[in-house]
Amino acid sequence: EVRVRFAPSPTGFLHLGGLRTALYNYIFAKKYGGSFILRLEDTDQSRLVPGAADSIEDMLEWAGIPPDESPRRGGPVGPYLQSQRLDLYSETALQLVKSGHAYYCFCSPQRLELLKKEALRTGQTPRYDNRCRHLRADQVHEKLANEVPHVIRFRLEVGVEPFQDLIFGWNRHEVAEVEGDPVVIKADGFPTYHLANIVDDHYMKISHVLRGSEWLISTSKHLLMYRALGWQPPTFGHLPLLMNKDGTKLSKRQGDIFIQSFQRDGVLPAALLDITTNCGSGFNTNRMGRRIDELISEFNPSKITTHSALLDLDKLPEFNRNHLQQQIEDEEQCLLLIKDLQGQIKQTYAAEIQDKDVLHEEYIRRVLFFRKGHISSLKELLSPNYSYLWVRPSFSSQQVAALTAEARHIASLVLRLVEEQGGELAVDQLNKDLKTLAKQAKATKYTEVMKLLRLALSGLQKGPSVAELMVSLGPAEIIHRLQKLLK
Ligand code: GLU
Repeated sequence: EVRVRFAPSPTGFLHLGGLRTALYNYIFAKKYGGSFILRLEDTDQSRLVPGAADSIEDMLEWAGIPPDESPRRGGPVGPYLQSQRLDLYSETALQLVKSGHAYYCFCSPQRLELLKKEALRTGQTPRYDNRCRHLRADQVHEKLANEVPHVIRFRLEVGVEPFQDLIFGWNRHEVAEVEGDPVVIKADGFPTYHLANIVDDHYMKISHVLRGSEWLISTSKHLLMYRALGWQPPTFGHLPLLMNKDGTKLSKRQGDIFIQSFQRDGVLPAALLDITTNCGSGFNTNRMGRRIDELISEFNPSKITTHSALLDLDKLPEFNRNHLQQQIEDEEQCLLLIKDLQGQIKQTYAAEIQDKDVLHEEYIRRVLFFRKGHISSLKELLSPNYSYLWVRPSFSSQQVAALTAEARHIASLVLRLVEEQGGELAVDQLNKDLKTLAKQAKATKYTEVMKLLRLALSGLQKGPSVAELMVSLGPAEIIHRLQKLLK
């Protein structure tokens, strides 16, 4: 049974790198009919950021990749918050001590500091010298009885066996040669990442660990711990890093890469998922516009490469435009967009809306169809350029007079045209009809007629064609706006 997990530390809010790791886990789970688990690794209490834990889960839901089991949803192997599983870690650590794979270490912070200074002075990498490995049983008992502060360290053995990473292939790091024995239980009784991580992966029955490649060098250490505990390890796959398109670290990017800020800016979750998978690998072809179901069906883990994925966020508006268009064309999703837009229009133009008709589903749907492919976010429709869609434009009689003396005549011709056509207007037909109509205005050229209509309908001098404007506004709204010319 496939069980994968996303295991962030709530020491910060979810950013693009994290979202991508979560997404590959989600896709992997869904592709193979498995479960996607969210586990929060909150053992470093000093670095917790208030609100981060909740927000991470919120953002996964928002992105449309909700976990099957999580702190909020619960599940059969919970709790899903490490701080609520402390007993499990101490039990495991004691088991390791008993079997001789771990030991109590009473070295003081001062001693460790000295070791570090000495190493740095002689140009070496600081590492613990494993001194407490050699304490006799009676010494240990005495210190424990006297409550000397202590940690528990895992005894790193030489002779690491190679493992086959799903993405990076055969790997092996002889950790004992480069590191001192790592702490597994800290002085405050909390576990370190390495212990808590493997204990949970074991008890949560994780089958595949898919995580960032920065953890690749830790995996041999984890495998030594699995071996010491007599546990069957999961299969590992390390995902290449996500970088800016110039190859710099994503976190160094100017501006925000937090998921909340994309949400705030009106980015569609589908566009975000699409762009983070598009730049990388794991698919036979690269194409824009894949929805989550297509990401799942087209995913091919053997196509994940080891080189970093270069993300070009300048392309995000293009991805957003693509997905917005797809959603407008999908009846169910379009309805959600309409609801969303209704709320936003009310908020933005509350005091200025003269006619509640512009809030009707039909009206908004027409606007969306008319602008799809042109806008890359719903928010654009709320910008001043588009305010005429929601608020009737104002213009002066001088502006009208500057264009033509026949404004009333022209307006009444267009009104008749619209009334005759009734119901739905169509751009092509309107273009033809407006040409014919302009000929009936004796003293006004076709271009002036168009300028007049554009002014009356949108208050603007530039913008979409008059026929397009008319189609989006619809007959009722056109009639209202042209009547102004008749006064
Ligand atoms: N808590 C670790 C992190 O924040 C999890 C690493 C892993 O997936 O094993 O990245």
